[in-house]
Amino acid sequence: MFNLQDYIRDVPDFPKPGVVYKDITPLLQDPEAAKKATEILLEKLNGLKIDKVVGIESRGFFFATLLAERLHAGFVPIRKPGKLPYETYRENYSLEYGEDVLEIHKDAIKQGEKVLIHDDVLATGGTAAAACRLVEKMGGEIVQCNFLMELAFLHGKDKLKPYQVVSLLTVE
Ligand code: IMP
Repeated sequence: MFNLQDYIRDVPDFPKPGVVYKDITPLLQDPEAAKKATEILLEKLNGLKIDKVVGIESRGFFFATLLAERLHAGFVPIRKPGKLPYETYRENYSLEYGEDVLEIHKDAIKQGEKVLIHDDVLATGGTAAAACRLVEKMGGEIVQCNFLMELAFLHGKDKLKPYQVVSLLTVE
């Protein structure tokens, strides 16, 4: 039986002491497991129509593109500042210490488009919430936010209250 947990590696003290980093590269290395994870994410969409799948830099890109292809939807990257080549909209968000910025191309989402937001890990929720604000400012309608994994003890879902949130794995 497929168990996503078997394909996520815990790396202690990365990127800094005290953090246990959830590494999805074992999942990416296994085509059958990656396909299974994609299929479960698709099932949890319940056939809802999606025009664009937004992937958050950088580990969100992998499954966002797989999902977009299966949904016959477009893929849209949200990136850290200065990485996207064309004109962008920007959104600030708070980190534990300080602030960061996300950017999206100005032509990426059209008014009324149905959007799926995807990232690998939901931690405090600041990143995904900023991605949602960007998409909504452009007139997109967020159908669901999905993640491979949710670190429930960081209560990221609280920042995504208005949205349907799906995680394949919940770490308590
Ligand atoms: P948040 O804004 O605190 O929810 O952090 C989510 C962002 O940090 C996502 O883009 C994740 O890819 C990344 N992230 C946080 N913790 C981990 C982890 O343990 N493994 C991989 N990425 C992580």
